Formats: sequence, C-alpha cells, structure tokens
Amino acid sequence: MLVLGGTTEARELAAALVGAPLRVTSSLAGRVAEPRLPAGEVRIGGFGGPEGLAAWLRAERVDAVVDATHPFAAVMSRNAAGAAAATGVPLLALRRPGWEPVAGDRWHPVASLAAAAELLPSLGRRVLLTTGRQGIGVFAHLDGLHFTARSVDPPEPPVPASLDVLLDRGPFTLDGERALLREHRIDVVVTKDSGGAATAPKLTAARELALPVVVVERPPLPDGVPVAESVGAAREWLAGLGPGW
Ligand code: NAP
Repeated sequence: MLVLGGTTEARELAAALVGAPLRVTSSLAGRVAEPRLPAGEVRIGGFGGPEGLAAWLRAERVDAVVDATHPFAAVMSRNAAGAAAATGVPLLALRRPGWEPVAGDRWHPVASLAAAAELLPSLGRRVLLTTGRQGIGVFAHLDGLHFTARSVDPPEPPVPASLDVLLDRGPFTLDGERALLREHRIDVVVTKDSGGAATAPKLTAARELALPVVVVERPPLPDGVPVAESVGAAREWLAGLGPGW
C-alpha cells in the first residue's frame, strides 16, 4: 500500500504498519531539505500528475492508498482521487479535524492566502505569518507591515520588504508561543486551518493577548473520497479491505 505523506499522521500510520505482512511505502514531495522520515520504505519526489501516479500504482501493484497529505496539499489530493478512479485502487483521505474557535477568539476566516493579504492591513502592523514558506510571496507587496515568518526552510523571493524569518518546526509550546508574540510585538497572526495539537498553542497565546487571527480555510477534498479523522480510523478502514491489514 501507499501512504501519501508529509504530516505527523502519515508518520504515525507508517509506524503503526511496520511489521504488517503487506508492503507499505510512504511518499514525500521532497519540499523540505531534511524531512522527518517515516518508518519503513520511503520514496521522495512527485509522480508526474494523476497519470504518473496511476502508472506508479499499477507498476508497484498497489492495493490501497491513504492520502495523509497536509489538508492544504490540494493538488496531490486531487491527483490521488484521479489516479484511484483510473486504476480502481481504494483510496482513503486521512485528515485531522480543523480547529474550532472558542470564547475569546478573534478569528477572521478567509478563503485563501490572497484574501488574508487583502484583510491584513485593516487588522494590524506586526504580523506573525505561519502559513509556510511557499505562500510568503502572496504578502510581498504589503510594504507598510512588518512580518515575522516561521517556516521549516528559508523562503525564497519574492518576500515582504520588512521580514524576520524564524526557522523552526513544531510541535510548539504555549510558553514558547507567548514569548514569541511578546518579543516580536505581534499584533496579528495568520495561519492555515491545519488542525492538530502541534501548532495549536499559537491560537491559545493569541486569545490570551486578544490578538486577531486570520484563519485560511481548508480547500475541499475531492468528491467521493472517504475520510478518516484519525490514524485509528484509517487502520479500521484498512482492516476492512481484507485479511493481513
Ligand atoms: P500540492 O500543492 O498538493 O502538490 C503539488 C505536487 O507536489 C503534486 O502534484 C505532486 O507532484 C507533489 N506532491 C505533493 N505531495 C506529495 C507526496 N506526499 N508524495 C509525492 N509527491 C507529492 O502539495 P504541497 O501543498 O506543496 O505539499 C507538499 C508536501 O508537503 C505534501 O506532502 C504535504 O503533505 C506537505 N505539507 C504541506 C503543507 C501545506 O501547507 N501545503 C504543510 C505541511 C506539509 P506530481 O504531480 O509530480 O505527483
């Protein structure tokens, strides 16, 4: 079977399946210079669109695919749905639930990074940007704002003129996030609705300081793909495929 990875859940699933009688391969896009590797067999790099993935599934005689990519990896999820439809290989999406606002949150949901950039100047001047290095270019034209951008690898131009880059990866602690917001005098936070515990403390820290948070909503999953919200639920789906899982 194939696990499309790049997330904590994908690594947890691969670790849980090590030692299963069937062969499990995890796939990574190759975006991160030094990725956290899943247990077991790993391949790195794109497949070449849905057709390339379908060819790979046939060549490797894959009998199940779990799309455990990040909720914002919409192209890969679409490709997986296309390849699964073309080959008849069962496909499951493993998606942790999104975050829900609680009392005291000052969230501003938006549909895209571009919409976040449009809204930002009305909300603050010193921005904590936690949307990943690939989207930083969308904010490059906002000259009046100062950005503190946190990412695993350094961003590439175009980037905002006034920018501090913090190279780091989760999980993050509440104490650490409080200190970060204070030290950088952040007055607005931008995040994707990634969900999960590893990067949630920034939301609590922002609530404590009554800071506005621009939350980019998730792209929709392709129609017709079953969804599991936890590694346990994904394993149940696999178990339903037959003996040996
Ligand atoms: P994307 O835009 O949905 O996909 C772009 C292309 O990257 C795909 O068409 C595919 O190339 C390749 N690709 C993506 N995920 C792959 C995987 N697991 N294995 C092999 N090829 C993959 O993806 P993205 O948003 O750039 O994310 C790339 C990776 O980073 C994913 O593995 C994702 O789980 C992880 N990640 C993404 C985010 C985020 O915010 N987007 C955050 C954390 C981690 P081909 O068409 O050539 O097959």
